[in-house]
Amino acid sequence: MADETSGLSRSVEDYLKAIYSISESGEPASTSAIAEVLEVQPASVTGMVKRLAETGFLEHVPYRGVRLTEEGKREALQIVRRHRVLETYLAERLGYRWQDVHDEAERLEHAASDQLIDRMAAALEHPSHDPHGAPIPTSSGEVEATGSLTLAELSPGDEAIVRAVRDDDSEGLLAVEAAGLLPGARVNVLGRTASTHVFTLKVEDKGKSGAGRASRDGPAGGRLEVPLDIAERVYVTLSSRGRDHT
Ligand SMILES: [Zn+2]
Repeated sequence: MADETSGLSRSVEDYLKAIYSISESGEPASTSAIAEVLEVQPASVTGMVKRLAETGFLEHVPYRGVRLTEEGKREALQIVRRHRVLETYLAERLGYRWQDVHDEAERLEHAASDQLIDRMAAALEHPSHDPHGAPIPTSSGEVEATGSLTLAELSPGDEAIVRAVRDDDSEGLLAVEAAGLLPGARVNVLGRTASTHVFTLKVEDKGKSGAGRASRDGPAGGRLEVPLDIAERVYVTLSSRGRDHT
């Protein structure tokens, strides 16, 4: 059933958004990756992918999966814009905490009109990033290019700045916040235990979330131990490579 906002059904919007996020790294989206993100069976992905390709939103990459066409990417970016503007509005204007905005935005993004989203963005003075540090596409579909490097890929001696945090898990966000690893925080990787994959970090400078709320409890300036599953949720920009890097 089509809604009145974009003319696309909710499931089409979810597929476009999922394929956009998978292919942000530049790789085609495989059926199994799409099934995993959307938590559905691979067989049902095959049917929807065929429909979306017929509509002109996707093209097949032989043996590797699919990627968005220009038209598909344009639609996906509008959905991503709705999601991230909603999250920012909820956090900044309605007092939601950063771990609580994603699920609300997942529901509202399918119902909000582009006009409502543009008014929310204007009321917020056109924010560039959402509370988790992800860039907000403009209404004309431009978006800042970002890498997909995470804390988990760093080596001892590396220095990096936290760029964004994955927003789809409240407990993950709480753990990241407690560690003081908010967007803008500077980290030095002191060590990495091979057997347990625990990272020892020094947090130089606490960041703050897009809601303008500095972390209160993070151990800034101190040593911090971060398990792999948390490190994988934190996107970083490398500022200098350590000497130990091979
Ligand atoms: Zn979100």
